[in-house]
Amino acid sequence: MNIDLILRGGRIHTMSAVGTTDAVAIHDGRIIALGEDALRLDARVTRDIRGKTVLPGFIDAHAHSVWFGLTLVELDVAPARSLDEIYALVAERASDTPAGEWIVGAGFNQMSVGNRYPDPDRLTIAAGGRPVWLKHTSGHACVLNRAAMSETGVYEAALRGVEGGRIVLDERGEPTGLLEEQAMRLVQDVMLPYPLARIEEALEAATAHYVSEGLTSVTDAGIGGGWIGHSPQEFSAYQNVLARGSLRTRQQVMPESSTLARHGEPGATGSFVGFNTGVRSGLGDDRLQLGPAKFFLDGSILGATARMTEEYHHCAGSHGYYQGNRDDIRGHALDAGRGGWALAMHAVGDEAVDLAIDIAHTLRAEGITPPMPHRVEHGGVVRPEQLTELAEAGLTVIGQPRFLTLYGDGFREFIGDDRAEWSFRSKSLLDAGMSLALTSDRPVAPGAPLSVIESSMLRRTESGHLYGAHERLTIDEALAAYTTGPAKVTGWAGRKGVIAVGALADLAVLGADPRDVLPEEVSDIPVAATVLGGEAVYDPEGVIAV
Ligand SMILES: [Zn+2]
Repeated sequence: MNIDLILRGGRIHTMSAVGTTDAVAIHDGRIIALGEDALRLDARVTRDIRGKTVLPGFIDAHAHSVWFGLTLVELDVAPARSLDEIYALVAERASDTPAGEWIVGAGFNQMSVGNRYPDPDRLTIAAGGRPVWLKHTSGHACVLNRAAMSETGVYEAALRGVEGGRIVLDERGEPTGLLEEQAMRLVQDVMLPYPLARIEEALEAATAHYVSEGLTSVTDAGIGGGWIGHSPQEFSAYQNVLARGSLRTRQQVMPESSTLARHGEPGATGSFVGFNTGVRSGLGDDRLQLGPAKFFLDGSILGATARMTEEYHHCAGSHGYYQGNRDDIRGHALDAGRGGWALAMHAVGDEAVDLAIDIAHTLRAEGITPPMPHRVEHGGVVRPEQLTELAEAGLTVIGQPRFLTLYGDGFREFIGDDRAEWSFRSKSLLDAGMSLALTSDRPVAPGAPLSVIESSMLRRTESGHLYGAHERLTIDEALAAYTTGPAKVTGWAGRKGVIAVGALADLAVLGADPRDVLPEEVSDIPVAATVLGGEAVYDPEGVIAV
């Protein structure tokens, strides 16, 4: 019998006790032999990869595939370095947008334009009167112009106030156009749901981009509801794209917590929180799977909306806030955990991390084992004593070291140098015995795995400041945090993230060995090819396919 494929002549880092080998045999989507065992087999295709380096395909356990895909099709204002450049980009887009139609932009960050926000009148002029909606790169805020504020009832809502969010006012008490957190619902209520076709287009664009960077598995950190979802039918879009064969990477998806409802009276036998079929985390297969439920506990550092025990450094008296009533969030998360959901709890401030620990600890004390690990998303500030508490509660913190490269100088200004030492940890999580998964949170930050790995080793801000020196990783630790670590965190330990007999044949083929180059050169290594389930899904030079 001829097997499907043998790759030989490369440096294959298995990320297991086997270490490095020189050949891998693949059949029916899986790895069936390594080294000499592989070379003894006969294959339909045998390729000499001429010294290239092979790693397990990279796994990003926290990105936003639909949202990222949409940024590829919406107006991208991220390159703007001044407000005038933003107005110019909006005006250019307006010139080929029908009158009255919305202009939707993504990638706005006030830190890129001198810590300033667009003026709602200037934006209206630039757009020729069309409504404008610019989404903040953090996902935790957005900016509207006058026309958009009128269409979405912002002026009326400003009089009532919004729980878990804020309509920012100027000194005259007029809305500035900046909406934070739950206040974004005002615009989403008008704009959502997106048509399925648009979401499908976004998913195709996102996953085609992923494979060009060596990614083979991605977890979408919030679909279906809340301010992060784009349609209550978002999972259908995933199924449609998968059925068409255009979902290029494996995807795990996290339903946002508002999609989980209570069924039955609280306390009644059989009452539960979840989908009304009882479907829960873990359903699906290696191509598309329901992951944990996503719970937003708080906001972001740069929005000063992350909930901290100590006040913000730049803003006395401000501790940030929860995304709603703390006890309601806690109760809903606990009930979802009891209903069989793993929990992915967005907690950036250390007080929100306390709440996440309390929730996981309570479920553990009740004897409930989740179908895949519970987790804390981000951990913008984690106090030293919380490390042990997190480990004891069975949690790990899913961090984004690339934030430090891009936003670290702003973080220091907002939380001060003492807390910056506790911020977006990596090494201390490993030292406390937790699994480590490095992630991008794309499109909040650019997400090429090799650039995130580089950031985790350097931890240098834009101004050159070394941010939390003791948290730097070695190359081996960082590579594990994109392969074996996230495999474990997402419930796939031993089946992906490793080149081992029986594991899925997902590979990233690199033009150089990350172990041979300086940390600051890691992001320059080209991805030569990406293999998913034994098929070349990215192969511009024909390394794998003929
Ligand atoms: Zn996220």
